[in-house]
Amino acid sequence: MSKTVFTKTFGCQMNERDSEIMEQLLAQAGYIPVAEQSGADLVILNTCSIRAKAEQKVFSLLGMLRKQKKEQPGLRIVVAGCVAQQEGQQIFKRMPHVDIVVGTQQIYQLPDMLLRLEQGETKREISCDMEKSFSIPPFQKLLSPSPALTEFRKFVTIMQGCNNFCTYCVVPSTRGREISRPVADILEEVTLLTQQGVKEITLLGQNVNSYGCTNPVAEQKTGFADLLRLTAKMSGVDRLRFTTSNPQDLSSGLMQCFKDIPNLCPHFHLPVQAGSNSVLKKMHRKYTRELYLEKVDQLRSFCPEIAISTDVIVGFPGESEEDFQQTMEILETVRFHGSFSFKYSDRPNTRSADFADKVDEKVKGERLKRFQDRQDQISLERNREYIGTSVEVMVEKCKPGSIQARTRSNHIVHFPAPVETSVNLQLGDTTLVTINHAGKHSLNGVLTE
Ligand code: SF4
Repeated sequence: MSKTVFTKTFGCQMNERDSEIMEQLLAQAGYIPVAEQSGADLVILNTCSIRAKAEQKVFSLLGMLRKQKKEQPGLRIVVAGCVAQQEGQQIFKRMPHVDIVVGTQQIYQLPDMLLRLEQGETKREISCDMEKSFSIPPFQKLLSPSPALTEFRKFVTIMQGCNNFCTYCVVPSTRGREISRPVADILEEVTLLTQQGVKEITLLGQNVNSYGCTNPVAEQKTGFADLLRLTAKMSGVDRLRFTTSNPQDLSSGLMQCFKDIPNLCPHFHLPVQAGSNSVLKKMHRKYTRELYLEKVDQLRSFCPEIAISTDVIVGFPGESEEDFQQTMEILETVRFHGSFSFKYSDRPNTRSADFADKVDEKVKGERLKRFQDRQDQISLERNREYIGTSVEVMVEKCKPGSIQARTRSNHIVHFPAPVETSVNLQLGDTTLVTINHAGKHSLNGVLTE
């Protein structure tokens, strides 16, 4: 008899992709994904430890699951992702009702782990020793297509881990060193996805710009720009995106792709993190504010309409008001279309956790508000630039009477569903919409006549 699985994903797109892989593997083992946690036979929390807040949410959700498990003793609870990788079996001490802890590179073993649990092995025997987990090859042969999982857009992992060791970041310790996935595997996965009806592909890695610098791909001499060109040429790829990039590795070869490749979407997420060189140095980001601004100018010279978004951390240890002002200056100069901004928080196993000169919480909160308020104004001004233009959108949600879609520049657009029955828009369809209103987070429009 089939069982049900509910997956809750925290954090980044790498985690979203890992959740998809786990659900796909579990589907082959007879599990059906469900949207509600209550009543599910299996609950997976795919965790993120990059910010303290996300980690706190995981433990509070686990606390709630304790009650559910008392009422439903057959419930299985799995903790996956970066918190699992970081805490390992310590999680059982704090949350004894958890059944399996699975690290970031062991997700392919989850169905087998569940089976072993049913066969009577103890959770401590099953849950791997995280110390050894990085010796396991992170990429496995592709899973066979599953029509139940067909969607119109998908992430394709092209590399894992990171070699940059930014002082605030847990990724090198939770996901290991950078490994690029072989080109043939990536293209094979893209082929299978497009055969299932996927139209938009996002190539995914912690630092896609350095794709091909690590084995086994280094021997193939395929850099990220080459990989983009190969993927873009594949039949069925209507839209191509990628994330995430590190400014230090952004080459002019990659920028040139925005000029040459018609199905490469004109959106670039380029995390700056801080505008002050002294803070960037303490973060161990290997670029300066001058280099960052130079790269933005160069990128815009290749693709003037490109929408640029960023990540910012405010209140890094030692950040003075003058340092913060330089972050505000970067915001004014680049006028990002959007940004993800956060207050700095100490994370376990990071160098910055030991730094002195921690910034007062109140000061961090006040700086974050100043940054976000100004970003909101700029986003609104940027979005207003689209009013009166006709833009290509891809449908991503259909509700009665209204449709949500996404532009090539990654803006969300809402528009009324067509009343004529001859126009029947489905998920993944593209159409033209004329923008007639702009908010700070989205646009509104009507179907272009
Ligand atoms: S580049 Fe820095 S912030 Fe990004 S994953 Fe690597 S270590 Fe973390």
